[in-house]
Amino acid sequence: MKIKTVELVRTAFNEEQYPKDNFPQIVIVGRSNVGKSTLINTVLNRKNLAKTSSKPGKTRGINFYLINNGFYLVDLPGYGYAKVSKEMKKQWAHNIETFLNTSKYLRHALLLIDIRRTPTEDDFLMVNWFRHKELPFTVVLTKADKVNKSEIVNAVEGICKTFNIDSERIIVFSSLKKMGVSQVLSIFDEWTKK
Ligand code: GDP
Repeated sequence: MKIKTVELVRTAFNEEQYPKDNFPQIVIVGRSNVGKSTLINTVLNRKNLAKTSSKPGKTRGINFYLINNGFYLVDLPGYGYAKVSKEMKKQWAHNIETFLNTSKYLRHALLLIDIRRTPTEDDFLMVNWFRHKELPFTVVLTKADKVNKSEIVNAVEGICKTFNIDSERIIVFSSLKKMGVSQVLSIFDEWTKK
């Protein structure tokens, strides 16, 4: 897929603000600081579309990016930031749950995990959600430039075992080295056909 147009159509803070059209959606999730904004900018080839390193803990809405006038990339707020209040965590969970529960056009999920870290409880929660909702998902291991080849192999094996998934469902990604970009674009192609 070639990215021709990208438009931030909406930042939604509640259900009423979700776009009402019926374009297919791909959702992208991960803990805060995993490299989600950087990945979005890299894959969509836009410099400052998604705000990188924004202050964690601030209430963040759900960003709906319309790509090629054909599908939405839905950017959920990053989770797991330790210093956030309980109230904020609750609100985050509520926002994500509401989205996953109400979206009729969701086709696929990208779950981002830092290649150097083991999945957190929140990551497991997400995977359980996807399975419960029968939503196909791909794990994207970010910041792959920070580890060597054998560490990459180990990380992929570890994720396969941890989530009981096939290695085909994992993308090794680095924004710095532009690694994995074409695979993410293939996911867009595969899951957004009308
Ligand atoms: P977000 O909170 O998930 O949106 O994370 P950001 O995109 O803001 O990235 C968090 C930090 O990780 C920033 O300092 C980025 O420069 C860094 N980062 C993101 N992607 C990569 C990558 O592929 N390689 C390296 N080395 N650093 C990265």
